[in-house]
Amino acid sequence: MANIVAIVGRPNVGKSTLFNRLVQKRQAIVDDVSGVTRDRHYGKTDWNGSDFTVIDTGGYIVGSEDTFETEIRKQVELAIDESNVILFMVDNQVGLTDMDKEVAQLLRKSQKPVLLVVNKVDSNKNLDDTYEFYNLGFEEFYTVSSMTGSGTGELLDEVVKHFDDTEFEDPFEGLPRVAIVGRPNAGKSTLTNALLGEERNIVTDIAGTTRDSIETLYNKFGHEFVLIDTAGMRKKGKVSEDLEFYSVMRAVRAVEECDVCVLMVDATRGIEAQDLNILFLAERNRKGVMILVNKWDLVEKETNTIKEYEAEIKKKIAPFTDVPILFISALTKQRVHKTVETIMQVTENRSRRIKTSKLNELMLPIIEITPPPAIKGKYIKIKYVTQLPTKTPQFAFFANLPQYVKEPYKRFIENQLRKNFDFTGVPIDIYFRQK
Ligand code: GDP
Ligand code: GDP
Repeated sequence: MANIVAIVGRPNVGKSTLFNRLVQKRQAIVDDVSGVTRDRHYGKTDWNGSDFTVIDTGGYIVGSEDTFETEIRKQVELAIDESNVILFMVDNQVGLTDMDKEVAQLLRKSQKPVLLVVNKVDSNKNLDDTYEFYNLGFEEFYTVSSMTGSGTGELLDEVVKHFDDTEFEDPFEGLPRVAIVGRPNAGKSTLTNALLGEERNIVTDIAGTTRDSIETLYNKFGHEFVLIDTAGMRKKGKVSEDLEFYSVMRAVRAVEECDVCVLMVDATRGIEAQDLNILFLAERNRKGVMILVNKWDLVEKETNTIKEYEAEIKKKIAPFTDVPILFISALTKQRVHKTVETIMQVTENRSRRIKTSKLNELMLPIIEITPPPAIKGKYIKIKYVTQLPTKTPQFAFFANLPQYVKEPYKRFIENQLRKNFDFTGVPIDIYFRQK
């Protein structure tokens, strides 16, 4: 289970400062998945061996047209819905405010553990001022300085105690895990229904009325995989901005949990910035990826429509364009079977292992004909290549001067690998190492 820690509190108490301090070292994994706002507000970190995700709830809401009060209510709701532990932050320099009391009031309905964090206690002499925060009705609180980091260790010690680290026995152990992600209304539920049968998921015309993300075994026509369906939205009546945000949250989580990420886009809208964010996230996490252009039944077609549409998408997803793109209709079930076959193909490609002898036999002559360009009169000789024993395809090329091999040559090598072996839908890594 992924553990999630949410930071809530009124503006300026230091939520994003704490967030940045916590996720700094690992933010590469999810950087610039910007969701509805501009910045990073969702990041991973770990403490004493527990991995967890931190959400700065404030970051998602700022900039909306709501009053502070509505904003804070949304933050708290989000924290209560999505997290395992809530950090309620207040500001020791400003002292206790009415808005803090309101937040405390809202948090009372939470079943989740709430830790009160008194921030901006930069030195011990500030400790005396903190007593007024007992008025918020918490038995204890944690004094920290997000700026210097002091006190955050004790806080995290407490946070990780509340994690649920029960190892669930995975009934689907060993099967590929497939996430269908995409914006609200792209057709995720409809596709899920087409795959698994109508009865298990009710689709309505109002986006966001289906339930939470669910996992189901697909086992038909000799194909087997686990479907992670992110269509879910448990709350009705949310405004579109929240809906968007929740769908991003779910997508990010699903991407982390899957082996193959199926990005669904609405043909009538095209591929949008949010779609690209998710796709790039999947690539960076070395997941298999494929794109479904859904609602193809609604598109007026001429001879080259598919080709043009495909070229358009490839331009947007460059440089990694070796990605299957299917034009489907979840509604009429056009190419739904092909979708399943492609999922299986991408899964296979992701675990493809090429024998060292075969690799060398194919790649060395190519390198012989087109060697890396000499640098400062030095010739780079690549002598040997092998695939590393990793979960996703990685290749090591051994050379006399590996540090001189530049990005364009790496890309050339990658293209040659893709030309000779089927790695469609799969990000691959190439390393040059000292022989
Ligand atoms: P947010 O709106 O809750 O996300 O608050 P920010 O993280 O943006 O912080 C608001 C202001 O408080 C910024 O100017 C921070 O530099 C400052 N700040 C944050 N944490 C501390 C702290 O521990 N000590 C002091 N002195 N200032 C802090
Ligand atoms: P989700 O929010 O991504 O789960 O999207 P839904 O599956 O709920 O679909 C949103 C709306 O689009 C519903 O009204 C569906 O009936 C409709 N829809 C989904 N797939 C297709 C399709 O292939 N063609 C057409 N014409 N409509 C579709």
